[in-house]
Amino acid sequence: MMRRKLVAGNWKMFGSLARNEGLLNAVAAGAAGMPGVDCAVCVPFPYLAQAQQLLRGSRVAWGAQDVHQLDKGAYTGEVAAPMLCDFGCRYVIVGHSERRTLYGETSQLVAEKFAAARESGLVPILCVGETLAQRESGETETVAAEQLDAVIGLLGVQSLRDAVLAYEPVWAIGTGKTASPEQAQAVHAFIRRRVAGHDGQVARGLCILYGGSVKAANAAELFAMPDIDGGLIGGASLVADDFLAICNAGQN
Ligand code: PEP
Repeated sequence: MMRRKLVAGNWKMFGSLARNEGLLNAVAAGAAGMPGVDCAVCVPFPYLAQAQQLLRGSRVAWGAQDVHQLDKGAYTGEVAAPMLCDFGCRYVIVGHSERRTLYGETSQLVAEKFAAARESGLVPILCVGETLAQRESGETETVAAEQLDAVIGLLGVQSLRDAVLAYEPVWAIGTGKTASPEQAQAVHAFIRRRVAGHDGQVARGLCILYGGSVKAANAAELFAMPDIDGGLIGGASLVADDFLAICNAGQN
């Protein structure tokens, strides 16, 4: 089946109202000429209103980088999925490796966040991936499986229908070190096979992004692999021309 490619930016904790304006407008303008790819930006919470204002009606969707697992309550500082919906979000990243590592998010918690996103009608972008030590000790597939199985175990495989996965080897994030297309493809194929073990149709439709130092220079060879359905882009998503070049590489 022909899966549409998605290129999603993860701005992390970067941006300002003044700086975002040019970036969002440029991305919207550039994406207008790229009907063969879906584009999105995941921005810091305070800028969701700005993204909504500047991207509404454009070909670029927007979303957040995290969400609380509950829909309301006395959780100072947290943001609930229905709040993201208020700002027109389509996507929310869950389980980014920075959240897992720096904030101790377990696969169980990530699965609960995935559930919260789905219940609100958001499309979760579930990140999985191994550290360098885990890769070197041969645990790459075990780690991806554990992170994926937490969601399937809690919600069932049907919860992955029309969801997005992102394979992001931790050693490739923000390091300038990209997985080779073959390395990435091998893990993407493993993930799709694992989902297919539950439901072949869900597996065939599943959008699996690669993330980890994707740039304009390496995007096309990554996106050419049969199980790579686009990218989750950190650093390069902060520069309009770089991000748009990556989006263009994703056009079918
Ligand atoms: C990310 O933060 O998800 C990411 C892939 O970052 P970078 O592209 O900067 O490696």
